[in-house]
Amino acid sequence: WTPDQPIISIHNVHKSFGTFKVLKGVSIDVMKGEVICIIGPSGSGKSTLIRCINALNDIQGGSITVEGQEVHDDKLDKLALRKKVGMVFQQYNLFPHKTALQNVMMAPIKVLKEPKAEVEQRARALIKKVRLEGKEDSYPGELSGGQQQRVAIARSLAMRPDVMLFDEVTAALDPETVKEVLITIKDLAAEGMTCILVTHEMKFAEEVADHIYFTDKGVIVEHGPPAEFFKMASDPRTREFLSQV
Ligand code: ADP
Ligand code: MG
Repeated sequence: WTPDQPIISIHNVHKSFGTFKVLKGVSIDVMKGEVICIIGPSGSGKSTLIRCINALNDIQGGSITVEGQEVHDDKLDKLALRKKVGMVFQQYNLFPHKTALQNVMMAPIKVLKEPKAEVEQRARALIKKVRLEGKEDSYPGELSGGQQQRVAIARSLAMRPDVMLFDEVTAALDPETVKEVLITIKDLAAEGMTCILVTHEMKFAEEVADHIYFTDKGVIVEHGPPAEFFKMASDPRTREFLSQV
């Protein structure tokens, strides 16, 4: 793989649960440093697609490559994939009896077996990056939802991923804390992190995305750069969705 090729290439992906077809030929290419937003009604397969990229779901057809490597391959090294692709969900699931700092440090120490001092230094820098300096020793229960989600983002970044997947990370948050999380993601995007975001925050998508994909019932209906997409999307399914959000 070389950086002039897509860092993530999703090609004609089909995914079923039993006889129920959730993804019906989805294709998306993502270049290094790009921010892609996937939008669409509930149940259209967005989370499933995200899970397929990270090999949490298998696929029945097509292919997904990360840095040129097929993700749905029996020989795939899962740990290598986890190091490349970070993921943040709606549920931040921090360890409640560990501090913010300890939560961020855990995976590199336990999974990557990296030296503690080095990991701690990185974790402290990441907590600063998500604008939580001073909260290192706070427990999740002492933090707002938005602060906890930012710890979760820092925890994911601690694995030094090349790509970040965000699946409706603000959907469960109070409106006041949504903003701080979106700022964190914008910071990351501005630094050149490759991001695939599923979001219902249209204004945010418009601001941060290089490319918007609208999905409905397992297909990509329309896509384009935000300036064009929000003005020119013409499919009735897209128009209906945009009129509701
Ligand atoms: P979205 O994230 O766009 O709301 P999902 O990817 O979560 O959509 O779900 C798409 C469809 O797949 C839904 O109809 C959902 O019920 C179904 N689905 C998701 N996960 C499973 C599963 N593990 N088993 C069976 N059906 C599933
Ligand atoms: Mg979802």
